[in-house]
Amino acid sequence: MSKIAFLGLGNMGLGMATNLVQNGHTVTGFDPSPAATEKAALHGIGSATSVADAAAAAAVIITMLPSGKHVLDVYADLVPVATPGSLFLDCSTIDVADARAAAQLAVDAGHRAVDAPVSGGTVAADGGTLTFMVGGPADAVDQASSLLDAMGSRIVRCGDSGAGQAVKICNNMILGISMIAVSEAFALGAKLGLTDQALFDVSSTASGQCWALTTNCPVPGPVPTSPANRDYAGGFASALMLKDLRLAQAAATDNGVDTTLGRRATELYEQFVAQDGPGRDFSAIVTAIRAGALD
Ligand code: NAD
Repeated sequence: MSKIAFLGLGNMGLGMATNLVQNGHTVTGFDPSPAATEKAALHGIGSATSVADAAAAAAVIITMLPSGKHVLDVYADLVPVATPGSLFLDCSTIDVADARAAAQLAVDAGHRAVDAPVSGGTVAADGGTLTFMVGGPADAVDQASSLLDAMGSRIVRCGDSGAGQAVKICNNMILGISMIAVSEAFALGAKLGLTDQALFDVSSTASGQCWALTTNCPVPGPVPTSPANRDYAGGFASALMLKDLRLAQAAATDNGVDTTLGRRATELYEQFVAQDGPGRDFSAIVTAIRAGALD
């Protein structure tokens, strides 16, 4: 069993840290939000007064933070003082270049580093059923695997440092673009006199089939479990989709790749989040597309 410092006990981190405790690990958490640490204490997660305090005597440092800047700041503080040979495991969704820079900081100081962003949202974080997309050297990934197993149900090693983040943003770029495509098809279909159900019945089993249509269908009715049936509550927030599309665009620019549809999807989600707010499921963009509210 490991002694773990868990930094970032927010919507995702709390459930993940709780699952580590339930699997017998000793977890000391830190979060600048007192509400987050109070809630964590109720789940058997020790409270620290600072990042450094949480990491004292820990062999594993897990981060679940909002952005690459947060991760790099924490690494800058901890890498020099952590026990030599510590495992740094970052599960946040951040820029590929930041992920590689953070891993390099840790490796240069004699530690191990793995990036392991997740797919699955808060329900999967609480239930221990996250999918982890993992980047890092094989021996470091092996060392991380029992911890990832405690927090997730699917662990995929995608390559070396940054590969987990790369897969995550490429996948979510597909998802953002395909949700817009599906939404435009429902908008056009309705103007052509189709019911949503008729379009769904054909496209869900024909060449238009995709997750945005068959699992997260943006219109109410055809898929009763999709967020559209509960006014887009829960699910994957539009602001997080926008964040991931922006990360994909940053990586595309850094690497000289022209992702025309990814760029356009980013622009459309920027407008949508400005109009609708950050919180509803990203499939709610269909409401703005149907209303002709996006330029
Ligand atoms: P969140 O805002 O709920 O939690 C982040 C937490 O980090 C906050 O509680 C904040 O106080 C804390 N924090 C900030 N600076 C810190 C520091 N220096 N040390 C320790 N804690 C610090 O965000 P979240 O929804 O839990 O998301 C976390 C990460 O997971 C993000 O990178 C996000 O993109 C990714 N993600 C989220 C979801 C989701 O459905 N929420 C799904 C997949 C991936």
